[in-house]
Amino acid sequence: CIDAWAGLAAISVERVKLTEAAREAAMLVEADKLHTALFNSISHELRTPLSSISGSVSTLLESGAMYNREQQTELLETIQEGASRMERIVINLLDSARLESGMLTLKKDWCDIEDLIGTTIRRFGKKNTDHIIEVDVSPDLPLIQADFVLLEQVLLNLLDNAKKYSPTDSVITIAAKQEADSIVMSVQDQGAGIPNDELVRVFDKFFRVRQDRQIPGTGLGLSICKGIVEAHRGRIWAENRPDGGTDLYISLPTCKYAPIMEAEDEAK
Ligand code: ADP
Repeated sequence: CIDAWAGLAAISVERVKLTEAAREAAMLVEADKLHTALFNSISHELRTPLSSISGSVSTLLESGAMYNREQQTELLETIQEGASRMERIVINLLDSARLESGMLTLKKDWCDIEDLIGTTIRRFGKKNTDHIIEVDVSPDLPLIQADFVLLEQVLLNLLDNAKKYSPTDSVITIAAKQEADSIVMSVQDQGAGIPNDELVRVFDKFFRVRQDRQIPGTGLGLSICKGIVEAHRGRIWAENRPDGGTDLYISLPTCKYAPIMEAEDEAK
């Protein structure tokens, strides 16, 4: 009987080992899939701006003298646009790697949401000429402890997406209000929305909605936003509005003892 128990114990140890091995194998397959996705998506994404840069440079080198100043400027702008698109991809990759390795450090300070949204819109405005931006920020929001630069990056990413996935000349609304112990910010657009069963998956690394794959993108932006928001102990999610368009929400915790802005100003 003791032999039988020992036999059973040995079998269950073997089973555990097998399950662990299967889990490790599944993780390796998943990692391999992610690497393939990375190579496919990044090489595809880099090829487009790279070929527009090299095309414009060749034209300028070979026959630049034949073009007038305006045409030359147009070619230089194409080069600049391509270079900044490549720069964005590289920054996204670095951010993603930093988040994954736990190397992202937050430089937290008291943050004024109105200032954060104003600064973000000014930066976004420089590259946006084809959408109408509306702002709806509740007055007297409390200051929060956050990394201003990283939150600006999150909002810029959401605005970039709203611009990319909604029709030209439509309205993008950026809003902020207090709800219980949180500040809830949102970026709302009038685009086609996200299929309901993919509202959660859009935050996965490299995930892109099938019908959007013609539009430039890497599928990294929202996963980085999620990493940054969660590092602030916040939450990010997407919702479709019944009348059309997508709302991207961020909720960030407020602090019980936040300083009051006016008092600070008076003290200065
Ligand atoms: P990228 O835009 O580079 O593809 P993101 O991670 O920012 O990567 O977004 C992932 C996917 O989520 C996008 O490819 C797109 O399919 C979808 N998506 C993101 N924002 C919106 C939006 N505002 N409206 C519709 N679809 C969106």
